[in-house]
Amino acid sequence: MAKTIRELVLEYFKNHPHEELPHGPVVDWVTEQYQQEHGNPPRDPWRSIRQLHQDGKLMQIKKGVYKYDPDYDHEVELHEFPPNVKKAILERDGYKCVVCGRGEEDGVTLAVDHKKPKDKGGTNTIDNGQTLCYQHNLLKKNYSQTEAGKRYFIRMYETAVAEQDEKMIAFCQSVFDVYDAHDINGHIDRPDTKK
Ligand SMILES: [Zn+2]
Repeated sequence: MAKTIRELVLEYFKNHPHEELPHGPVVDWVTEQYQQEHGNPPRDPWRSIRQLHQDGKLMQIKKGVYKYDPDYDHEVELHEFPPNVKKAILERDGYKCVVCGRGEEDGVTLAVDHKKPKDKGGTNTIDNGQTLCYQHNLLKKNYSQTEAGKRYFIRMYETAVAEQDEKMIAFCQSVFDVYDAHDINGHIDRPDTKK
């Protein structure tokens, strides 16, 4: 199975632990490897570096310079589910993504996800964990972003109605139309009657 951009980026950093690496040479190396494996250039390896930083895998030293510290990585993992809990969740789920059923043998990286996020009071317990493939884990994160966005526009719409701001009302309704058109976050009702 050919490696993903993310896996290649992490591989490069793991091969240079504790080094402060500017992103240029990393991107060059990843581009070359990816091109060899896939036959086409990778899309935006730079974005994978930022994503790995957001996920706590890479430390940002300064703009465009990152470092992989194995001890820090271990720390981040510790603040996630403790290893024994993680293992219990993976075993309960049969080492398969609970959404698509894919596992490591299908070439996907598995993540143990907090059903209720920790910043919303979720705990590191087996009950609060679920096995997700990397793709569905990311999808879940993105969906919660769109949820937050929809709620934000609902509040903006209600304010606009109170102030009889027709322009803003129409704008918000267009935003809700986009959510509907893409069938995203339908469980949050739009505040206008137009459905
Ligand atoms: Zn999945």
